Amino acid sequence: MILILLGPPGAGKGTQAKMLAAELGVPHISTGDMFRDHKARGTELGKKVQAIMDSGGLVTDDITNAMVQDRLGRPDVARGCILDGYPRTAAQADFLGTLLRGQGRAVDRVLSYEVPEQAVVERIGGRRSCPKCGAVYHVTASPPRAAGVCDKDGTALVLRDDDRPENVKKRMQEYAGKTAPLKRYYQDRKLVAEIEATGAPETILAATRKLLGR
Ligand code: ADP
Repeated sequence: MILILLGPPGAGKGTQAKMLAAELGVPHISTGDMFRDHKARGTELGKKVQAIMDSGGLVTDDITNAMVQDRLGRPDVARGCILDGYPRTAAQADFLGTLLRGQGRAVDRVLSYEVPEQAVVERIGGRRSCPKCGAVYHVTASPPRAAGVCDKDGTALVLRDDDRPENVKKRMQEYAGKTAPLKRYYQDRKLVAEIEATGAPETILAATRKLLGR
């Protein structure tokens, strides 16, 4: 099963994607996580995308598509995957469609996470991440056991550069201009299912299960 999760920054796609991937037994592919991993390891690609990511802009389609093409060519994706944060532009959606067709497969469903802008701003503002393992918390909604440190490895939690208020604005603009139109794109292909994404993660997951007939 190939699922695309669509929704604004802070809609909780990452959280849902991890849970869904575990349930369905397919890999969670987050282009944001992949870019952050490159940045953390200081690779050539990481250096190239650092400034644009930190400011809340989108990495170019060429770079992003090439990275995804490589990832989708690996054996663990044979049974499908959860795409989180990709595609983010019409050019990426076209590229993905062609790539999958070449492999004799297609996108099965696009889950569109519906959440009001106010909630999104609240979520992002309170989000804290572990720079070491990538675990994500929220200061009030899902705090770590000890304030400010990761439950898993004790590392001090940070506010991601792109989660700073000045950069969130840019991300929201990029989303509205380039990514939101993908809903229409996939609606035209009869693939979209809307999910109310304002409740607790478990509630949203339950709604998703039902929608997928599981
Ligand atoms: P968000 O929390 O906004 O959903 P992600 O973790 O998915 O953010 O992505 C973080 C950043 O990585 C984006 O702001 C962008 O700079 C870059 N990025 C991730 N996926 C893509 C993509 N498909 N196309 C272009 N840039 C991307």
